[in-house]
Amino acid sequence: MSEFVLREYLSNKYISAMDPFPQESKETTKLYPFYDALKEGSLTTTTCKSCGKMSWPPRILCPECYSEDLEWIQLPTTGKVVEFVEMAKQLVPHFESPMVLALIDFDGKLKYVSRILGVQMGELQVGDEVKLKIFPVEPVPLEDRKGNIDLKERVFYAFEKA
Ligand SMILES: [Zn+2]
Repeated sequence: MSEFVLREYLSNKYISAMDPFPQESKETTKLYPFYDALKEGSLTTTTCKSCGKMSWPPRILCPECYSEDLEWIQLPTTGKVVEFVEMAKQLVPHFESPMVLALIDFDGKLKYVSRILGVQMGELQVGDEVKLKIFPVEPVPLEDRKGNIDLKERVFYAFEKA
């Protein structure tokens, strides 16, 4: 893409306040290994090497003992729906309607809330198996110290019925 197109994109199209997705590159977040792994198809998080506490979402500091000695571990990519909410219309730009949010249980080891993609109102049931779905999101323009603008590819995750 040309410099002009990128500048136009930066000035007209990209409005960070309307961006529901995080910055993912090494230059902008210490959690970049999470996004690098996501781009490779796996879901990861951090555990503390000092006290063993697993965090979700991943951290750069252990919330239990404040150690910075963390390591990245793989998380399961399938789980079961424990409960969910459905919203006929979503309120977040770029998100599909209906918006379905589910609490997912991963083998009893971890539970967290994620969006469920590709389901209509009334379609999801408690106990349904869901699997990780990684999808591209709009790249974010990033300007370096020399004033060069580069578009950083981004992905994000949700779940879908298995
Ligand atoms: Zn710790």
